[in-house]
Amino acid sequence: MEHDVVIVGAGPAGMFAAYEIATKGKGKLSTLIIDQGYDVDNRKCPVHNYKMCTNCRICSIMSGVGGAGTLSDGLLNLRPDIGGDLMEFCTSDKEAWDLVNYVDSVFLKYGAPKEVCRGDVDDAVDLQRRAASEGIKFIPITQRHMGSDGAPKVIKNFKEDLEKMGVKFLLDTHVKDIRPGKIIFDDDSSMSPKYILMAPGRVGANWAAEVARRLAIPTRHEPIDIGVRVEVPAFVMAPVIAVNRDPKFHIYTDTYDDFVRTFCVNHEGFVVKEVYDGIVAVNGHSMTDNPSDNSNFAFLVRVALTEPIEDTTAYGRSVVQQSTILGGGEPLIQRLGDLRMGRRSTWVRIAHSNVLPSLRSATPGDIAMAMPHRIVTDILEGLEKLDEIIPGVASSSTLLYAPEIKFSANKFQVNKNLETPVENLFVAGDGVGLSRGIVIAAANGLLAGRGILMKAGLLV
Ligand SMILES: Cc1cc2nc3c(=O)[nH]c(=O)nc-3n(C[C@H](O)[C@H](O)[C@H](O)COP(=O)(O)OP(=O)(O)OC[C@H]3O[C@@H](n4cnc5c(N)ncnc54)[C@H](O)[C@@H]3O)c2cc1C
Repeated sequence: MEHDVVIVGAGPAGMFAAYEIATKGKGKLSTLIIDQGYDVDNRKCPVHNYKMCTNCRICSIMSGVGGAGTLSDGLLNLRPDIGGDLMEFCTSDKEAWDLVNYVDSVFLKYGAPKEVCRGDVDDAVDLQRRAASEGIKFIPITQRHMGSDGAPKVIKNFKEDLEKMGVKFLLDTHVKDIRPGKIIFDDDSSMSPKYILMAPGRVGANWAAEVARRLAIPTRHEPIDIGVRVEVPAFVMAPVIAVNRDPKFHIYTDTYDDFVRTFCVNHEGFVVKEVYDGIVAVNGHSMTDNPSDNSNFAFLVRVALTEPIEDTTAYGRSVVQQSTILGGGEPLIQRLGDLRMGRRSTWVRIAHSNVLPSLRSATPGDIAMAMPHRIVTDILEGLEKLDEIIPGVASSSTLLYAPEIKFSANKFQVNKNLETPVENLFVAGDGVGLSRGIVIAAANGLLAGRGILMKAGLLV
């Protein structure tokens, strides 16, 4: 059966686009969402193990209804400039904030917790002031935390309501190629919708880049973030967590003037292994009903390349590969004190630390052997600065896991409605370099959905 709109990717970008088309288009455009992954209840990847499921063709953490957000920590960063920048597509601050609030209202409608994580305003201002005195920028954010256990329920409600509004889902189905006005499947069968939205997320970023190349859609490499995951006793982070659940600190380092930031703070959480395409990295998560004694956060250095190569993905992969080799196929773990002293960590040395590692499969080693000197210097200097705001964070006991990496997808050239130079082909979300988080991906979806409605003459 042919559809007016076909959306590739059932992540936040794809689902919010379908929502906008269904609600504002009053059912006039039939919409199909295709995803290579499974329905919410069938995404059975064990939460502690970021491997591909042995029985799955695809990784259930990254793929399926709700996309990479479904089995994530489900933390909604309610700002238009975190996880992307909505101002690229909006003409005013208000328009960008309206989009964020709209996304939030949809998550609330489908059961996201009513309480937001927003500490005392005076404490936030005080933290901002103290951070500024050290040359650090603290970015206060209102956040809504669905949790790894709550997010799937919200996504399930969302999908059921989309289906009630007439949106169809075709799951466990991989799209091989996209041509102008055409979707091509692995068995070479095809569909010819009027409008196509490509929202393939991080897991489909390489595929999206290939489609762009074939269709001559201009794309450009974006900076990537490389660094470590820092693990400290939970009480060290508690004072800043009281101000913001996922406190974001932006730092410029002294030696290289490089940009370093905290990201994805998991209070009372766990460090986890992330395996993709034969390389090993780390991530973190927390569960509302299973707290640990530790807190962890990513500490990431921004890397942009200009000439002669701009391919930040290839560069990032080479760093991760080196670390994977040194760790014998496992992430590296090192005490900060050992890194400072220029010696590798061993389990005996780590036992002297007052932090009990939450990822025991990591290999004690020397991060300085695996990562470029510049990145290691940035991490050391950045943590020293951060220690002025969060005492204890740069203790010799602090544990570092490497590598943590955030690749960026190639960024597609689009207009304000997220339409590519190929007529009626729209794109949205992480896979096309327009977002790096749930809220902005969802807002992208709204914009693309509105763009499609405008092209169809259903919205002015
Ligand atoms: C472990 C983890 C934790 C995270 N935690 C948070 C968090 O707490 N807060 C936050 O804001 N962000 C978080 N993120 C990031 C967030 O999940 C993403 O930014 C967001 O999901 C991006 O949405 P998207 O719609 O662009 O893509 P995705 O959510 O990645 O969805 C894309 C979908 O497209 C499908 N697809 C791709 N290619 C094809 C193809 N060729 N054919 C068919 N289907 C295809 C995929 O299967 C996937 O389901 C986390 C990510 C991960 C991996």
